Formats: sequence, C-alpha cells, structure tokens
Amino acid sequence: MTSFKLFMAYPGVFYSDDGQILRAMQTASNNGSMIMMHAENGIAIDVLIAQALAEGKTDPRYHSLTRPWETEAEATNRAIMLARMTGAPLYVVHMSAKQAVKILQETRDEGWNVFGETCPQYLYLSLEDHLSQPGFEGAKWVCSTPLRSKAEGHQDELWKYLRTNDLSVVSTDHCPFCFKEQKELGLGNFSKIPNGIGTVEHRMDLIYQGVVDGQITLERWVELCSTTPARMFGLYGRKGAIQPGFDADIVIYDPAGRTEIGLHKTHHMNMDHSAWEGVVIDGHVDTVISRGRIVVENNEYHGAKGHGQFLKRGLSQYLL
Ligand SMILES: [Zn+2]
Repeated sequence: MTSFKLFMAYPGVFYSDDGQILRAMQTASNNGSMIMMHAENGIAIDVLIAQALAEGKTDPRYHSLTRPWETEAEATNRAIMLARMTGAPLYVVHMSAKQAVKILQETRDEGWNVFGETCPQYLYLSLEDHLSQPGFEGAKWVCSTPLRSKAEGHQDELWKYLRTNDLSVVSTDHCPFCFKEQKELGLGNFSKIPNGIGTVEHRMDLIYQGVVDGQITLERWVELCSTTPARMFGLYGRKGAIQPGFDADIVIYDPAGRTEIGLHKTHHMNMDHSAWEGVVIDGHVDTVISRGRIVVENNEYHGAKGHGQFLKRGLSQYLL
C-alpha cells in the first residue's frame, strides 16, 4: 500500500488528532507514501450540529449549514502545515470549499507537494437546489464534505481550479446508500443520515459535460479523470495513457450522442434512487474496452467475472 486516508472529520468514529497525523506524515515522509486527508474540523462541526439540533433544526440542509466552509478551510490549512513540517506529500480528498482550495493554491505556488481533488457533486449540485429540497428529499444529497451554497460561488471557482491544476483530479467519493431504510435513518435528525452519494458510473459523462460547457478542454478531461490519477497513485506505465506497453483500456466517446441519467435509463448501481436523476449529457459512451476486450457496447455490458486483475501500485509518479 502506498497511500493512506486519514480523517480530521468524525471524532469518535473516524478521527486522527494532530499528533497522530504528524506521526503518520513523518512515516510517510520516510517511506515515500502519500497521505490522503479528509479535511474538515470535526470537533467544531460536532458542536454546531448539537446546537442546531437543540434549536429544532433537523432538515437535511442543516447538514451543510453545520459544516460551513471555514471548517474545511481550517482543516485543509492545518493538514498543509503538518505536511510542511514533515515534507510528506499531501493529497486532500473531495474538496468543495473554494477557500480551502485557495490555501492549497498558495502552497502549491510555493512549490510544495500538496494536491487536491474534487467530485462531480461539488461542481454541479448545491445547497440551494438539492440539499434544500422540500421535506426529506435533500437526504439524497447528504455527503461530506457537503454540497455548498451556489450564492457563495464555490462551484464556478472549483471549475477554475480544475483549469489551473490547483485541483488535479476529479474522483467521485462513491459511497451509495438506498433512500429506503438507509437515508431514512435520518428522518427528524439530519446528523443520522448516512453520508454519501453514488456517482462512480457517471463520472466520465458528467465531466465530459464540462468540455461541452467550455469549462475544460477535451485533453484536460482525460488528464483529470485518467492520466493524473494513474500518476498520482503509482499506476502510470500500465494505466493512464494510450501507449505501447500500457493496458488497452479505452473509452470510445460519441460527441454527437446524448445520455439521460436516471433510474431505468443509465443507472446500474445497487441503490433505489439516483442523485443525478434527469441530468442530460451532450455525449454518449459508444464502446468501452478493458485490456483489449470489449466490455460495453450498444449500452450493454459484455464483461465477465474473473476479468479483473489486482494491480500492485508503486509510489506516486506525480511528485515535484
Ligand atoms: Zn472522506
């Protein structure tokens, strides 16, 4: 294993204190591994949650309002400072606050090995349009870091940071829950809603729409979704490019096609709703080839059990 995810977010559940983080980073700095950080100030967030619930604020939108951008920016800054003390590379996962990325940008400009990723939900979805939907609907979009306010302008800034490579990767933080019996655990108490959105099968389509919308170039789409992740996590040489010696993993994409995301359309994940219901993409996956074998064609899956191979990752090939 060459990368390790730590959490600053969930005291009592998943949580590393500053001393533990520092020790992990010292070790990473010695053996060349990468520390991935879920950067939110969980101690402060837990106070805000308790206060909101005491005031009777129980709807899903309070999930975002009790995790304000400051909690992400503060934790990101602290993680960066701890990493700088040790010289370890740092990769901040699923960033959604523009202020947090700004701190990352300033540190990158000074030449440090600090990196950030964001996810489609933070580029397209928002506190106002999704998390604040009437009743309990907003529970579909409860994830952490949270969807943020459009009025605060995070979404546009994140696209900008994808263009400037201050955000280097688009991942999904794929973590699906059914609405029935799972998301419903948080009826009457937003803090009991399981955190997570299922996006993994839509990532390439959703980020391709950024090309159509003029947010990123075609080449940057490939870089953000394939090449950089492969280099960041030590798979370059086999994955991340179409070159002699690499695996023949190829998506043939039809820019004249159209994809409507939703249940009974493009949805194959084992969950009873789609966080992306009704979203239309101005493009379509034509063919998917895995190690030279066609696994998707004409909207049908032709893969087989046993085709997958375990790959041992090397150290990051992306460091300065
Ligand atoms: Zn996380």
